[in-house]
Amino acid sequence: MNSPFEYVDLDLQHVDEGTMERAGSVQVDRANNGFTAISQAVPGVCYQVDLLHSSGYCNCPDFVYRKAKQGRPCKHIVALNRFLGGRA
Ligand SMILES: [Zn+2]
Repeated sequence: MNSPFEYVDLDLQHVDEGTMERAGSVQVDRANNGFTAISQAVPGVCYQVDLLHSSGYCNCPDFVYRKAKQGRPCKHIVALNRFLGGRA
């Protein structure tokens, strides 16, 4: 199954503190093809997120327009990394 998103190589070892902190309020659930991250800040909004080794994607604007270009994970990807036990 083709993902509509491009996986981006991410630096998960050097995540800024603000992102780490906000990741704590993100709820991650398994979905049919990957994972969903539910925003606590914006009710009813959820994003598709995935992480494979150290490559990941999220379709939130923060990631698509900013962090992906810098090789940095958004809070949803950080939350997913925690959900998966940090093995990425
Ligand atoms: Zn995101």
